[in-house]
Amino acid sequence: MLDVISHWWWSAVDRLSTHAVAPALDFAHLGNRIGEPEDIAFTLLIGLLQIVIIACVFRPLETLAPAESWQDRKLTRVDLRFALLLVGLGPLLAFFVLSPFAQAFGSAAATVGLPSEGLLHFIPRIAEHPYLAFGLYYVANDLAYYWMHRAQHAIPWWWALHNMHHSQRQVNCWTNARVNWLDVVIESCLLATVGLIMGVDAGQFAFLVLLTQLVQNLAHTNTRLGFGRIYDRIFVDPRFHRLHHMVTDPSRPRLHDCNYGQVLSMWDNLFGTALYGEPVRATGVGDPAVDADNDHGAIAMQWFALRRFWNAFTTRAGWKPQ
Ligand SMILES: [Zn+2]
Ligand SMILES: [Zn+2]
Repeated sequence: MLDVISHWWWSAVDRLSTHAVAPALDFAHLGNRIGEPEDIAFTLLIGLLQIVIIACVFRPLETLAPAESWQDRKLTRVDLRFALLLVGLGPLLAFFVLSPFAQAFGSAAATVGLPSEGLLHFIPRIAEHPYLAFGLYYVANDLAYYWMHRAQHAIPWWWALHNMHHSQRQVNCWTNARVNWLDVVIESCLLATVGLIMGVDAGQFAFLVLLTQLVQNLAHTNTRLGFGRIYDRIFVDPRFHRLHHMVTDPSRPRLHDCNYGQVLSMWDNLFGTALYGEPVRATGVGDPAVDADNDHGAIAMQWFALRRFWNAFTTRAGWKPQ
């Protein structure tokens, strides 16, 4: 079964590369300047697959079993635009950020004597169990994400970027893509570092990104569906992440400082940040300056978040963990 999917996938990458990406690069006289056509096709296809799954599976859930009923879906449209923009930005991120970062990391690792093949290779016979290796990497990646997400809430300049994601009052199946692009660069480099230290190849890393993105897309979906009282202690479900997006009020200003997990909720249970059982509450932020994001289009929203970031980044208070 996996062989069939793999064959289908790589022939789709090949066709997209030969019949669309390579001719488009030639037409724009770009050659290989922004990457190999196969690599671009691979990243584009990962992004498109994600869009198709969200549109065909997660979006209908919002109609069938909504957590919140909305008069209209006006505020969700900008998140859909972000999701489509990210499909196009994916190859640029891979070529201009992740490839140079991996090369720089490789040279730095060689200087300090880190093995280029990664830590996983120290586990005896791990090469014979690729699924186990992938699982170990997945868990390490998720733990790193948990602590990174806590830092995004605790460090003021990072919160100034991350709060663009939280300013959405109608958290929906596209909201995972509502992120500041500078934050995407920082997140990608940090999580790629975990992959490089562990020793995961680029293909596996891309597949892991797709899987985690899909879980996050489901987690943002406006649906009351959950995984049940046992599985929701291990995995993040839409109810769990919706509590992370609760709008704060003056009497409970730290309400959204809970449920930081990306795929595994067990980190929140382990480190004491899990919250369950809170009734469904509106989503968004209490700060009117951040809530004003809802009045902006995609590009203006990126700009205002960058301005908030810069104001915090250039002050001493912006570095003091909250
Ligand atoms: Zn958050
Ligand atoms: Zn979120």
